[in-house]
Amino acid sequence: MTAMDAAKKVLRDVFGYDAFRPGQESAVAAILEGRDVLAVMPTGAGKSLCYQIPALVLPGITLVVSPLISLMRDQVFALLQNGVHAAYLNSTLTSRQYARALDNARHGLYKIIYVAPERLMTDAFLRFAQGANIAQVVVDEAHCVSQWGQDFRPGYLQIEPFIASLAVRPRVSAFTATATQAVRQDIVRLLRLREPYPVLTGFDRPNLYFEVRKTGDRDAELLHFLGEHRGQSGIVYCGTRKAVEEVADMLCENGIEAVGYHAGMPDEQRGCAQEDFVSDRVPVIVATNAFGMGIDKSNVSFVVHYNMPKDLESYYQEAGRAGRDGEDAACCLLYHPSDVRLNTFLIDHSQDTSQMDAQTQLVVAERARERLKQMTFYATGSGCLRARILRYFGEEVKEPYCGNCSSCLAREQERDVTRESAQIVSMVIALNGRYGKSMVAQLLCGKKSERIREKGLHRLSGFGCLSGESEENVRAMIDELVACDVLSVTRGDYPLLQAGERAREILRGDEPVRMSLLPKDATPAVSRRFRRGAGPDKALLARLSNLRKTLAQQQRVPPFIIFTNATLRDMADKKPRTRAAMLRVAGVGEGKMERYGEAFLREIARYEEETQ
Ligand code: ADP
Ligand code: ZN
Repeated sequence: MTAMDAAKKVLRDVFGYDAFRPGQESAVAAILEGRDVLAVMPTGAGKSLCYQIPALVLPGITLVVSPLISLMRDQVFALLQNGVHAAYLNSTLTSRQYARALDNARHGLYKIIYVAPERLMTDAFLRFAQGANIAQVVVDEAHCVSQWGQDFRPGYLQIEPFIASLAVRPRVSAFTATATQAVRQDIVRLLRLREPYPVLTGFDRPNLYFEVRKTGDRDAELLHFLGEHRGQSGIVYCGTRKAVEEVADMLCENGIEAVGYHAGMPDEQRGCAQEDFVSDRVPVIVATNAFGMGIDKSNVSFVVHYNMPKDLESYYQEAGRAGRDGEDAACCLLYHPSDVRLNTFLIDHSQDTSQMDAQTQLVVAERARERLKQMTFYATGSGCLRARILRYFGEEVKEPYCGNCSSCLAREQERDVTRESAQIVSMVIALNGRYGKSMVAQLLCGKKSERIREKGLHRLSGFGCLSGESEENVRAMIDELVACDVLSVTRGDYPLLQAGERAREILRGDEPVRMSLLPKDATPAVSRRFRRGAGPDKALLARLSNLRKTLAQQQRVPPFIIFTNATLRDMADKKPRTRAAMLRVAGVGEGKMERYGEAFLREIARYEEETQ
């Protein structure tokens, strides 16, 4: 078996996934070949598997340098659940626990060890590392090594001397979600990566809608926004703890269920707030940036920033917590010039830099101000918001026009589409309810796909009658027509289009129809994604998620460590009846099958019996 075959087997058997995601396969292959890797992948892309899979395939130990205690703990719990031997070494361990863990490590009990950067150069750890067979050193959140980055951490500068002190240099892989060009160069230089294999998956998240609202009355604007998103779950980020408390109170006074969350709250209360939100008991959480790390709630439909954050790295990371399930989601920034003053103050009085020497402090503060300037450009400039974000992260954007941000939508123009609407309705009637939106749009635009030819649909009389329009626009028109009952969609896995109650009015052309659409010549840089059809069985999903909650409480781990929401959704979709079928659910590997498979199979069987 080749190393890559072994990697695929681990992906399937240990982690329960059928296929690699973009970027993962090439990262794994490069690491297995012994190369250094620099991977820049957005939040949620699946960075962990890129190094965990090689860790399990390679002989020897993988060390993962990670900056956050909570992140380490979650990762190790998650690995243990999958049956992988892992441990963490940080300041939460007593000296006895630490000595025991090192002893275990020396005896080869762990395949993966998470370690805080400050530990690396301590005597005890060095002695262990120099005597061990270390196959790979992973630097997680690698931007922390750079003074250009938003979270510079002096301890990261010890990674390179640590690696240099090892008898045999292991392969080194560095991972980050937010690295600009300058930060990438710093990572390569300061970690002394050797011709690292670059893994760059696109930064774009097409299902996120970006919006900036300039406002003097944030409360009114926030209430207005939440009114538009009633019944959805989301996060409101505030710049200070005080703002968190005030905004949470304000929302409750206005009849919106919300909990507050910040690092100054007692642990227990904070834990409850998080749990209420993650388990969907309370739809809105108002939080400082302390909230979010390691949280895997996939059905977050919006992220509002009540205050502008200090840089685009923070903004994109926080906003990126919306829509991880791939559904449409909105990211709204409320902006007022006072945000710039607040952030400048925070930079000038930062506690984070008090450990650094004076010279470094000056450099760090200056770069923080530069990043703040870029963030302010985002809030106040003109042109596509998505394009501005992507360019900031060094991505080339050819057509600065995404059609899915407030700036692009403002460029949409209202025009008369009476004739176009009638043509759409005629096409839908001609197809007699057999096709969905994409097909109807393709036919109207005159696209000759293989499927269309095969079925002879290009011979329909309306074929290509809207060839001057983009498919994007035609789909947008169809959406509008559905919204006002001219067309209707069937329920089910494949929503099909039919004529609706008001179809005749449109065919008669009694009244002019006007819609806001992108200019005809605009080809969107990024295609706008539309809401998927019916999701999994909601009632079953709720029961599975309750079972997960009970198990999580019994074992004192966060629910997503047992199964992620995506896994529960897939399970509710596939409704497995056998062990083999359960193993086909995305995210169910052998370790989790052993631990939880039976319980979930029983719950599904019970549900099916009751609903027969
Ligand atoms: P990141 O660190 O890049 O933010 P994670 O490593 O936490 O992302 O992965 C995000 C989620 O995606 C996790 O729930 C993980 O289990 C899931 N995931 C990772 N790789 C795959 C894959 N190949 N197929 C399906 N899900 C995956
Ligand atoms: Zn745009």
